[in-house]
Formats: sequence, structure tokens, C-alpha cells
Amino acid sequence: MAEKMEIELPGYKLPLVEEFFTLQGEGYQTGRAAYFVRLGGCDVGCSWCDSRYSWNPDLHPLVDTDKIIENVLKSGTDSVVVTGGEPLMWDLDYLCIKLKEHNINTFIETSGAYKLSGIWDWICLSPKKNMPPVGKIYEISNELKVIIQNTDDFAWAEQYRELVKKDCKLFLQPEWSRFHLIIPEIVEYVKKNPYWRVSLQSHKYMHIP
Ligand code: SF4
Repeated sequence: MAEKMEIELPGYKLPLVEEFFTLQGEGYQTGRAAYFVRLGGCDVGCSWCDSRYSWNPDLHPLVDTDKIIENVLKSGTDSVVVTGGEPLMWDLDYLCIKLKEHNINTFIETSGAYKLSGIWDWICLSPKKNMPPVGKIYEISNELKVIIQNTDDFAWAEQYRELVKKDCKLFLQPEWSRFHLIIPEIVEYVKKNPYWRVSLQSHKYMHIP
């Protein structure tokens, strides 16, 4: 009789930086309670990145994905936001299949710089100039959130607005360290181009993670 083969599916373990139950602070889902799963690994290299501690995946232990799901369920949440780092560096199919088995809403925050995996109720695409999105993730993204560091970034935002689907929610978000310099420019831009909305990092004002 043939021996039973153990097949190690990718995504059974993920490099976990941190996980916490909080409110979404940014974009269309602002104010919504959600369990955040931050995965390690990112080589996009944004100069203003506020989660540099997540860049090196080797610094973050590989955790059983089942353990992450157990913690999600224990929290009592109905929604999970997977973020990073760049979470699409990892295969997220198993994580999402298991979350869906428990009727958990799945949200992802991604630069789109890696191939899409997972099953998502909401894809927030935040394209970065250093490493633009691959494939056609823009066609299925629910939200486009472009970080504005200087006025050149408006053209980058418009480039992706042309690509996303018609009902995609459009957000411009000031880069935090230049907030006071750039917010007047964003306000004027949105007044002239009202299909955009402003996204503020409201969790920073609420002093929550
Ligand atoms: Fe940081 Fe995100 Fe840019 Fe990666 S893509 S460097 S995690 S801001």
C-alpha cells in the first residue's frame, strides 16, 4: 500500500511581525473594527516607510497560519486586514481559505508589487513608484490609495486612476512626515479634481495602532 504523502502547502506558515485588534485608520474602511495581521518582508524601499521594522522577513518568526487564524477567532472580529511589509510576497491562499471558512471579511493593503494570491473582499492598492504593481491587480482593486509626498505624485495617482475600474474608491493620503507641507496642496487638488477623496491616518490621531 502506498504511504500517505504529506503535502506542505505554501502559506501554511507566515512571517508574522505583529497582530492586533484595532480600527482601520485609513482609506474607505476608516473607523471599521478589524484584526490586523502584519507580515514581514518588503523590498519596495519607500523612503518614508513607517514600518521599516517589517522589511527583513528573517527577523520575524514563521508562525503557523492556523495559529494566526486561532487568534483572529479569539478576538471576536468579523474582519481581517492583511498588511506588511508587502504581504503579497507570500502565498495567502491558505490564510484566506481558512478565514472564509469562518465567514471573516478579508481585506488587503498592498503595493501590488508581487503576484496576487488569496481571496479578498476588499483590495486596497497603494502603488509605489520604486516598484510598480505587476499584472492587472488594478482591474480588481476596490480602492486606490496613493501616498502624496510632493506634487509630482499627483501625476502618478492619475496614471493609476486611469487604470482602475470605474467604481474603485480613490484616495490621496499625505505622507505623514510632510503632512503640514503637503496637505494644502492635496486640499486644492481635490477641490479641482473631486473624484478623489483625502485619506488621513486617523489611527495616529486616536493613538491606536
Ligand atoms: Fe514600507 Fe509599504 Fe513601501 Fe514596503 S511598500 S517600503 S512596507 S510603505
